[in-house]
Amino acid sequence: MTHPAATSAPGRLALAERFLHYAPAPESRSIVDIRPAYGLFIDGAFVEGDGERFSTINPADEKVLAEVTSANAADVDRAVVAARRASERVWSATPGTERAKYLFRIARLIQERGRELAVLETLDNGKPIKESRDFDVPAAAAHFFYYAGWADKLEYAGYGPTVRPRGVVGQVIPWNFPLLMLAWKIAPALATGNTVVLKPAETTPLSALLFAEICQQADLPPGVVNILTGAGETGRLLVEHEGIDKVAFTGSTQVGKAIARAIAGTGTGLTLELGGKAANIVYDDAPIDETVEGIVNGIFFNQGHVCCAGSRLLVQESIAEEVVERLQRRLSTLRLGDPLDKNTDIGAINSQAQLDRIRELTAAGEAEGAQRWSATCELPERGYWFAPTVFTDVSQAHRIASEEVFGPVLSVLTFRTPDEAIAKANNTPYGLSAGIWTDKGSRILWTADRLRAGVVWANTFNQFDPSSPFGGYKESGYGREGGRHGLEPYLALATEVDAA
Ligand code: NAD
Repeated sequence: MTHPAATSAPGRLALAERFLHYAPAPESRSIVDIRPAYGLFIDGAFVEGDGERFSTINPADEKVLAEVTSANAADVDRAVVAARRASERVWSATPGTERAKYLFRIARLIQERGRELAVLETLDNGKPIKESRDFDVPAAAAHFFYYAGWADKLEYAGYGPTVRPRGVVGQVIPWNFPLLMLAWKIAPALATGNTVVLKPAETTPLSALLFAEICQQADLPPGVVNILTGAGETGRLLVEHEGIDKVAFTGSTQVGKAIARAIAGTGTGLTLELGGKAANIVYDDAPIDETVEGIVNGIFFNQGHVCCAGSRLLVQESIAEEVVERLQRRLSTLRLGDPLDKNTDIGAINSQAQLDRIRELTAAGEAEGAQRWSATCELPERGYWFAPTVFTDVSQAHRIASEEVFGPVLSVLTFRTPDEAIAKANNTPYGLSAGIWTDKGSRILWTADRLRAGVVWANTFNQFDPSSPFGGYKESGYGREGGRHGLEPYLALATEVDAA
C-alpha cells in the first residue's frame, strides 16, 4: 500500500527526510562497571601503586571516567620481579598444552565479556561502538584463539626443535587500538612461555585493566601478566629495566628511536611497530564504487588513528576528478557524533593533544597551498572532534603528504604512469602498508613487487587476520607481529640457547 505522504512531491521529500535521519540508537553504558579508581595489576592482584594518580577521560564529552595510577620506578621493579618469579617457577615450565588452555580460556572470556569491553573501549578511546564491537573485540579474541593453537606446536614453527621462551617481556602500546594492541602483544608472548609486564597508553588504560580481571577469571598463575598504567616515564622505566629480556613497542617513530638508542648494546631483544604514511594507489581501470568505499575505510576508519591508514591517495590523473567528487559525496553521508550510538561512523579524536596536532598539520596544508575540503557536519560542543577532510592539489613536498597526521585527513596526489605511482608511493621515510586498486591481476603483482611496504592490500584495505604477519620497513619499525612470524621475537632460538 502506498504511504499517503508519498503521493505528492513535497510529501515524498518529507518522507525521504524522515527515513534518511536515523533515530538515536545508543548502546547502554551501564553494561560496564567502571571503578572510581584503579591500582596496578601486579602478581595476580590489584595493588596500590606508589606513584601519583591521574584521570582518564571520555574524549567525547571530556568527563572523567576514572582515576588511574602512574606506576613509578618502585612499581615497575615490583612488577618485573613478579614476572621473573612467575617465569622461573611456573610459566616457562608449564607445558604448551596447558598454556594453550589458558589462552583459549582468555579468548572465550573476551568473547563473553565482549559487550562490556566494547563499551569501555569506546568510552575511553572515543571510537564508534560499531568498530569496537565488530572489529577490536572480535579481533582481540581471535588473536588469543590463534596463538593458543601454536602454544603446543612451537617445535614445528620453523625455528628449530629447541626453542625456549626469552623470559620477561616489557610491552608498551598506544591508544588507537588499546585492547587489540594488547592482544597482539600478550597472546604470542604467553603462547611461547614468556611472562609479561605491559603498559597501556595514558589516555586509554581501562580496557587493559578489565583484561587484568579477565586474567584473574581465567585463573592465570600470578605474575604471568602484569599491567602497569602510567605515561611515557613509566614506559621508559619499564623498557630500560635490567630485568627485561625483550621489549615490544608499538607507538610513534620518535619514541621507538629513543627506545632503540636506550637499550642498544644491552642484549635486550626489541621489536618496533611504528608510524606510517601509506600510499593507496588507484589506477584508471579500478572499479570506482568499490574503490571509494575502500578509500573511506582506508583513512576514515577509527578517525584515521591507524598506523597503516591509507593517508596518501595516489590517483591516476585521468580519473582523479571523478574519484574526488564521488569521495566527497560519500563523505558527506558519514555520521559524526556520539561514539556509543550504533549508527555513528566517525567518533571523537582521542585527546586534546592529538586534536591539536591534526589542526596544526591541516593548517600547514592550507598555508602550503593545498585545497582543503571538509565534510559539512555539526561538531558536538564538548569533546574533541574533527570533520572528515580531504586535501587536493597536494605536492610531495607538503607536510600533509609526508608527515603522519593520525587523524581523519586524506591527501590526494595524482600520477600519470605506473612508474610515477611507485616512485611517489615509496617516497616516504615510512614503509608500513599500501593499497592497490585495479582490475588487472598482473598490475597488482607488478605494483606490489615494487612497493616498499610491510603489508600491501589489493582491491581492499585495512584487512587483518591473526595468521598474517604485520610490520614495517624503514622508519615504520622492525620485527613482525601476527602469524608464525610473530612467534619468533618471543623465542630464544637454537643458536642463542646453545650460546647461553
Ligand atoms: P607514543 O609513541 O607517543 O606513545 C606510545 C606509547 O609509548 C604510550 O604508551 C606512551 O606512554 C609510551 N611512551 C612514551 N614515551 C616513552 C618512552 N620514552 N619510553 C617508553 N614508552 C614511552 O605514540 P602514540 O601517540 O600513543 O601512538 C600513535 C603512534 O603509534 C602513531 O605514530 C602510530 O602510527 C603508531 N602506531 C603504530 C602501530 C603499528 O603497528 N605499527 C600501531 C598503532 C599505532
